[in-house]
Amino acid sequence: MNAPERNTAFFTFDNSYARLPERFFARLPPTAVKAPRLVRINEALARHLNLDPDALASEEGVAVLSGSRIPDGADPIAMAYAGHQFGTFVPQLGDGRAILLGEVIGRDGVRRDIQLKGSGRTPFSRMGDGRAGIGPVLREYIVSEGMAALGIPTTRALAAVTTGEPVMREAILPGAVLTRVARSHIRVGTFQYFSVRKDHDAVRALADHVIARHYPEARETENRYRALLDAVVTKQAALVAQWLNVGFIHGVMNTDNMSIAGETIDYGPCAFMDTYHSGTVFSSIDHMGRYAYGNQPGIAHWNLSRLAQAMLSILGDDEEAAIAEAQASIDAFPDLFEAAWLDGLRAKLGFEKAGSIDFDFAKDFLERMADNEADFTLVFRRLSMLANEPGQADESVSELFNKPADFHDWAKAWRKRLNHEMSTECTRQAAMKAVNPAYIPRNHLVEEALQSAHRDDYEPFEDLLAVLARPYDGEQAFERYAKPPRPDQVVHQTFCGT
Ligand code: AMP
Ligand code: MG
Repeated sequence: MNAPERNTAFFTFDNSYARLPERFFARLPPTAVKAPRLVRINEALARHLNLDPDALASEEGVAVLSGSRIPDGADPIAMAYAGHQFGTFVPQLGDGRAILLGEVIGRDGVRRDIQLKGSGRTPFSRMGDGRAGIGPVLREYIVSEGMAALGIPTTRALAAVTTGEPVMREAILPGAVLTRVARSHIRVGTFQYFSVRKDHDAVRALADHVIARHYPEARETENRYRALLDAVVTKQAALVAQWLNVGFIHGVMNTDNMSIAGETIDYGPCAFMDTYHSGTVFSSIDHMGRYAYGNQPGIAHWNLSRLAQAMLSILGDDEEAAIAEAQASIDAFPDLFEAAWLDGLRAKLGFEKAGSIDFDFAKDFLERMADNEADFTLVFRRLSMLANEPGQADESVSELFNKPADFHDWAKAWRKRLNHEMSTECTRQAAMKAVNPAYIPRNHLVEEALQSAHRDDYEPFEDLLAVLARPYDGEQAFERYAKPPRPDQVVHQTFCGT
């Protein structure tokens, strides 16, 4: 393993996780690569993090972003964690191909991790090579940035570089490294790692770290660890509701892929649904459909129960009290989720005021969409443009339904419901367009960008990122990006590529 040289300041690091006890991680540098080459710097994000995009794009900067040089102030570590993978507990996972360089404070005062993903083997690599291919790296770049622009909590992509080294997958691919930015990389599985080892001191130290970093308000409460659990439950309920309301399918909701800070993390075989169906699965490794679109709330609930279990040693004075706290916290999830989901759907339907029929009303609409193989994103986007009175434009939505009457029938009830609103047609349309995106990272567009990148043509990748940066604008010029795939463009499966 080549030891990278130490080099100049690119980041102003303050590394709080690396100050935790040694058993929380393995301390090691990333592995230098043969021929680092820049694919892209996220300039806006760099500035937001108080970083100089030009310095990052320089030869030295690219060496840093490839793991070939260690920037001043970095304290590189691979984090330890465990996790339930497809329901089976694995007591040791950890960063097998990622190195946390350190933490920076952004212009917004928020502390964030700077992590290299695909940066070489670590003690947690098991059989893996510690590397990533260009396809999965760019996929994560596109989808995480798309999610951020949609307003959904997510890790971000600061940069992508190629390594000049091949990686062996189903085919030989160019190797790449993603620089990932997260509020933290602490997962449900991080708590599980210490809990399964009965290391209660570590569970407490981890919880204290998380409270200080993400949930300081928990300190003001009587049982701060219960307050922490409640906060994570609430954040995850809101997050999964947001996923559902844009048609996002994470694909690998293992407990090691669920962030304690409530961000979407670890973009593997994730995908956006085109035609609406709650059973939609894309991931090639999800044979049972465990992580299907409509199962995501239930899985989040299950994962949070694993978190509560891992925190039992700190939740109460004795076991009985701890179990009662855990149960009460977890039991709140279904209602929190449903409220967040329904709030989101109301906004999508143009309702400002909550009405008692809204739940059944929204469900009915979704069922009609499922029956009619209607495109989820396009239906809501076009619905936003409809007038409060029936007209020609209604066809623009009904043509997305196999049986147009199924839409027209529902639209009558929708307009009746709109009569209970105070908003004018104009403000309603603007409000709906602000929550119903024209552009999402559709699978066929992502695939097209990745295929071009494999041929060293990054233009489609750049063009797609530019469109996804303003998902609610809906400019006519980008019409192609708003359309569902033609039958020959439909992507049926997505792969981890790990
Ligand atoms: P994921 O499915 O990406 O969430 O990864 C699950 C676990 O496998 C994590 O501990 C990863 O760090 C590890 N892993 C995935 N791909 C590789 C790889 N190519 N080399 C080493 N470890 C890996
Ligand atoms: Mg993972």
